Amino acid sequence: MTHRHMTPLDNRLNFSGGPGALPGHVLSQIQESILAVPGVGLSVLGISHRSDWFAAVVSELEDNIRTLLGLPDDYHVLFLQGGATQQFSMIPMTLLHGKTTPAEYLHSGYWSGKALAEAGREGPSRVIWSGEDGGFRRLPGNDELSFSQDAAYLHYVSNETVEGLQFHRVLGRDDVPRVCDMSSDFLSQPCKADRFSLIYAHAQKNIGPAGVTVVLVRDALLKNARTDLPGFLDYRSHIEAHSVFNTPPVFAIYVVLLITRWLLNEIGGLARMADLNRDKAELMYRMLDTSDGFYRGRADAGDRSRMNATFNLASPDMEKRFLAEAEAAGFSGLAGHRSTGGIRASLYNGLELSAVEELAGFMEDFRIQCTKRRVSGAA
Ligand SMILES: *Cc1c(COP(=O)(O)O)cnc(C)c1O
Repeated sequence: MTHRHMTPLDNRLNFSGGPGALPGHVLSQIQESILAVPGVGLSVLGISHRSDWFAAVVSELEDNIRTLLGLPDDYHVLFLQGGATQQFSMIPMTLLHGKTTPAEYLHSGYWSGKALAEAGREGPSRVIWSGEDGGFRRLPGNDELSFSQDAAYLHYVSNETVEGLQFHRVLGRDDVPRVCDMSSDFLSQPCKADRFSLIYAHAQKNIGPAGVTVVLVRDALLKNARTDLPGFLDYRSHIEAHSVFNTPPVFAIYVVLLITRWLLNEIGGLARMADLNRDKAELMYRMLDTSDGFYRGRADAGDRSRMNATFNLASPDMEKRFLAEAEAAGFSGLAGHRSTGGIRASLYNGLELSAVEELAGFMEDFRIQCTKRRVSGAA
């Protein structure tokens, strides 16, 4: 991304893969709280994490997440630091270290590959399926997967942010703990949370700014976990301290609270959020599929992500031109991940349908313009 803009970008048209667009409604509330949190009088940046106010923030946020997901009481809700990357390590440190039975990992894209590499430092892991040979363009069908009964746990990534692949079902067996990285689709739809032993999601794709990671962990998962970890890396320290083991990212946690209030009160819950996200994704993919091959969707149709639509044009040069013209028209964040190139339109909760309509209009115009140029021989 260039920092030399002729005109300012339009925040409504931010298709960034992460940190992602946040709803305008919440941005206004954040703006106000930087000066003074309503009813408190202090800036959110200068309130003690030991205050009653912050204890109430953590408690309301926890309740909101429980309500949104229908989360049973035997789960702890934690707000941690270190991003999803710290969870890549903390999970095998806690559940795999010293074990002889492997944990099972799905290698479905860039982020699950990162998780897998960290697991290897702690204990035995087994890749039960990898999409690497096929360039991560599809996810496995049930007939390609066999899960063993004695695995330490199963780990997978529900939405591969880089490749634009999303599981539209729950994987694995009910008698092996499911551990899932939901960083890029958390709270974008209902997720049957009670079928997972541990869910983690950093905030910066869908539900807030960078700096906080939500972890939902079933109490039973930690019963026989090792006890010799540094306090900061032990889930139990954070459970006992109600996510205030040390100074937490107060601002980031407050923003996630505002997002959950928005989901509950303005959107009307996760089923409604899922409808809105589905409408955006359908519009986007319809545009790709009716472009006579001008835009080529990257992922197999059945595994397409509702959060990240990835596609290519005929050549890297065409893609460069597309990105430059899109940016000149006010769109941003459309360049694909540095590992894959191409184009990626991220359609997180905060992005409105009207932004996707505008992008679809731009893409249609760009296609017609290029096709004309080619027909007249001007290109
Ligand atoms: C972005 C992303 C990550 C990386 O998270 P950090 O917070 O930067 O550590 C991990 N997993 C998924 C699915 C992601 O989309």
